[in-house]
Amino acid sequence: MKRVLLVCSLVVLATSSRSQTFRVVGNSKLAKIAGRINGEHEKYAITFGKTIFVSCTKEDFLSEDWWVRHEVTHVQQYKKYGVFGFLKRYVGYAIVYRYRENPFEKEAISAEDDPLTRGIAATTTASNQ
Ligand SMILES: [Zn+2]
Repeated sequence: MKRVLLVCSLVVLATSSRSQTFRVVGNSKLAKIAGRINGEHEKYAITFGKTIFVSCTKEDFLSEDWWVRHEVTHVQQYKKYGVFGFLKRYVGYAIVYRYRENPFEKEAISAEDDPLTRGIAATTTASNQ
């Protein structure tokens, strides 16, 4: 049943107007470690390029639209600046700004409630990393 719901969700997302492809790695050790470092022990995501690593299951992540929109905004930022360009800027901002004032995070946080960022086509990959 969960698989059917996931496929239906992906079809709805894929047919939306502003499509963006990304990959989700669920139960990611990387995300769990990064979450612990940042004091988040329940759910955490870290995005590299088009891949979103999440500490929970893919299904749990994909069921939370606001969270998907937040992380997809980071995918778009990587696409705009390139992996190195994004990371260089992000680290620079992280030195100067608090999390919520980091320009990349401000954009992602504002996208959480933005219906215009709902056009998402997801390709997901099962992983137990
Ligand atoms: Zn973020």
